[in-house]
Amino acid sequence: MPDDKGYKDVGLRIGWGYDVHRLAAERPLILGGVAIPHHQGLAGHSDADVLTHAVMDALLGASGLGDIGQHFPDSDDRYKDISSLVLLGKVRTLLSRQGFEIVNIDVTLLAEAPRIAAHKTAIGDNLARTLGIAPDRVNVKATTTEGLGPIGRKEGMAAQCVVLVASTASS
Ligand code: MG
Repeated sequence: MPDDKGYKDVGLRIGWGYDVHRLAAERPLILGGVAIPHHQGLAGHSDADVLTHAVMDALLGASGLGDIGQHFPDSDDRYKDISSLVLLGKVRTLLSRQGFEIVNIDVTLLAEAPRIAAHKTAIGDNLARTLGIAPDRVNVKATTTEGLGPIGRKEGMAAQCVVLVASTASS
C-alpha cells in the first residue's frame, strides 16, 4: 500500500548496531555467548558480550524499539553479570510482539586479538538458536584494525551489525 508520498511499504526494515567495550584483566572473554580463552576479557555491567550487544541494538533499531540501554539499563542490578544471550532472548520476544521476524544478521567483530576464526560457527549457532532462526541467517565476521587506534592497541573491542527484519503482517 503506497503511503502519502507514493512509497510502497514492502514490510522490510533495516537496523544498525554498534558497541565498544574495554578490555580488562580478570574478566572472562565472552563473544556471542562463547567463552574464548584469552588473558583478558571485556569490562561491563553484564557479561560485556560486545558482539551480542551490537546484534541486539541492530534488532531493536530495525523494529523501532530504541536501544539496549533503554531496555536493559546498566543501573539495574538485575542485569549485573547477566549472560547477554538471555537479553538477546528478551529482544527476540520484543521483536515478535512488535510484529517482526528476522530475515538476516551480519555482524563484524573488531579485535586485534585473539583470533576468533575457530569460534565463528559456535557464535553464529548461539545467536541463531537464541533467536529461533536458521544458522544460515547469521553471518559472523571478524577483522583487526591493523594495529591502529584503541582497538589496535588492544585497549578494547568493538562490534558492528546490520540486520534486516520483515513485518509478519505483510507476509
Ligand atoms: Mg555493550
